[in-house]
Amino acid sequence: MPNSFTPQAAGDLNYLKSLNRSTILSTVRRNPGLSRADIALQTGLTKATVGGVVQILLEQGWLREGELHARGGGRPGRALHLDDAHHCMLGAEVGVKGLRLVACNLLGEILASLHREEPPTTPEATARRLAELLGELRDDPAIAGRSCLGLGVAVPGPVSPQAPILRLAPNLGWVDIDFLALLRAECRGPEGIWLLENEANAAAFGEFYFFDGAPPESIAYISAGSGIGCGVVSGDHFPVIPRGRQGLVGEIGHTVLQPGGALCHCGNRGCAETLVSGWALREALKIDSRASLSASVSARGDEAEVQAALARAGDALGLLLLNLHHTLNPSMLIVGGSLMRLGARLIGPALSYFDAHQNDLLRQAQAVPVKVVEDSTFTAARGAAAQVMARAAVAL
Ligand SMILES: [Zn+2]
Repeated sequence: MPNSFTPQAAGDLNYLKSLNRSTILSTVRRNPGLSRADIALQTGLTKATVGGVVQILLEQGWLREGELHARGGGRPGRALHLDDAHHCMLGAEVGVKGLRLVACNLLGEILASLHREEPPTTPEATARRLAELLGELRDDPAIAGRSCLGLGVAVPGPVSPQAPILRLAPNLGWVDIDFLALLRAECRGPEGIWLLENEANAAAFGEFYFFDGAPPESIAYISAGSGIGCGVVSGDHFPVIPRGRQGLVGEIGHTVLQPGGALCHCGNRGCAETLVSGWALREALKIDSRASLSASVSARGDEAEVQAALARAGDALGLLLLNLHHTLNPSMLIVGGSLMRLGARLIGPALSYFDAHQNDLLRQAQAVPVKVVEDSTFTAARGAAAQVMARAAVAL
């Protein structure tokens, strides 16, 4: 699996057409309401090319026409928007604590969703259960009559850059799993594109692709839940996720913060996850894996032991933010994941540390915005759906 948006062939007419379609779609996605003339101006394509491609995209249900633009002197043009009524994409997340599914329209709006707090067991049983839930989702009246572009599945571990194989899910104990093959054996459809993605990469992609307003040049999304990972996305018409040789880009949970520290699920000692992760907090506070972490922490909020554990986790998260700032220097940091439900006592120390140190190196650097996503229940599933849309736009 190379970068999600790299067209497969280059140098021929189909490639050029695909490039033009994707560029026009992405221009409308990022600037809803443009006219054909605006698009030609912004993209450098001829008006004839834009007119021809827009006509096909209107016929295929990717674009719709809106209001008439009044222009000073010139011929008025119709505003163009993504068609939110014709297509849908499915996204699913196999999380350490349960399964989450969404169906989205082309605007990234969630039309239907399912969330089951059923921790995965074996890959086979999980594929069977996910297939059942996909059937339930596809029967939802909210997506009846829509054309489905495909399915993206987000998983809690690195995915091979060469093939859609989950290399390792340390918090599930899964190794080298061809999860899409298991899922295909259990369900009929949907037709279209199927893809497998690391959950933090998927979340990062969705936050970037469906960014509300003009997106930053690049973002890093930190997913702090049962484990902790990070996805990075940059680009414009063809957003790119760097993956690295083995798909390990963004595996910040296993960067070592405390050499010789506590034992991590990966086998090493002192990884970031041993300080800031759902499993480390449960271990430190002796909270049963079946109980809700946020409810248990909230019920014991006055205990010094709980306050110390949250502060320690928050400090470690702050270190990770600063390390990301200095290694990747994204235009925006976004922090999500179930640990955000633990509130200010965890995120407060992290943001304070980052704010205090982010300009140490350059002194006069501008502050990098940090956005906290309080409810990221469906962020990764929606991001996987966004990747389906982006690939479908190239493959039209
Ligand atoms: Zn580790």
